Amino acid sequence: MNDKVTYGHTARKRFGQNFLQDQNVIGGIVRAVNPQKNDNILEIGPGLAALTMPVSEHVDKLKVIELDRDLAQRLRENPFLAPKLEIYEQDALKFDFHNVASENNKVRIFGNLPYNISTPLMMHLFKQCGIIKDMHFMLQFEVVERLAACPNSKDYGRLSVITQYYTKVIPIMQVKPSAFRPAPKVMSAVVRLVPHQVPPYHTKDVKCLERVLQIAFNQRRKTINNSLCSLFSSEELTSLGLNTQLRAENLTIEQYCLLADMLFDKQNLQEK
Ligand code: SAM
Repeated sequence: MNDKVTYGHTARKRFGQNFLQDQNVIGGIVRAVNPQKNDNILEIGPGLAALTMPVSEHVDKLKVIELDRDLAQRLRENPFLAPKLEIYEQDALKFDFHNVASENNKVRIFGNLPYNISTPLMMHLFKQCGIIKDMHFMLQFEVVERLAACPNSKDYGRLSVITQYYTKVIPIMQVKPSAFRPAPKVMSAVVRLVPHQVPPYHTKDVKCLERVLQIAFNQRRKTINNSLCSLFSSEELTSLGLNTQLRAENLTIEQYCLLADMLFDKQNLQEK
């Protein structure tokens, strides 16, 4: 049996198409999302509707973003789904979520994400966090480990800091390759990301935070004294209460925010 063909559709690798087929996993995701009748809810990459169908049973309306033209057409022609769906045949990476949500009408987002774009897609979503209520995503297991990682662990990195800066990360369940068709080569996991209502961390400019993280974690084996020397002197690091012999993975999110603010102040001083 050709495992690339599901319901007559040949899976397209470039769109990261691994369709869910395990009803237990599908049921688990729907329970985790817990869709409510009047939710402003949106699915990224509905594909062959493995999640779309059961979620649609709980809600009045469901928005979906699907890049694959053939799959979008199938959804339009589905007599059960079409009346409930608002279909955006677009690239989710370029989608402006302000078109479907506002601060008073936050959107709930879910999806079994195409793994090839999951990190840039989450970054795109974090920038629009103020209008998102929560997100439930199927990702590579290894990515979920990185999202949830704490300082002093090997998985802790840029992705952990940025994700936890914007959201509370709650891993939900691990999923085996056999739950998909075609089966991916890696383990997967479902995660819930809830944007902070009251941000626990503050920075003057998140671009400075991204810059510090990029430089620190590019050379994660070096001490911060060495890895961050292009941005800060040893004295400046010490003035923030940082031990210069620490490595990138030893710093907390609060400490990265302190560094980002020092960088911001230095840049502003230079411009004056
Ligand atoms: N939700 C379905 C399921 O669980 O079986 C399909 C999941 S499949 C992993 C990813 C889906 O995202 C596919 O339908 C694919 O066509 C769609 N997709 C890929 N890249 C996309 C993008 N940039 N924007 C929107 N959808 C995309």
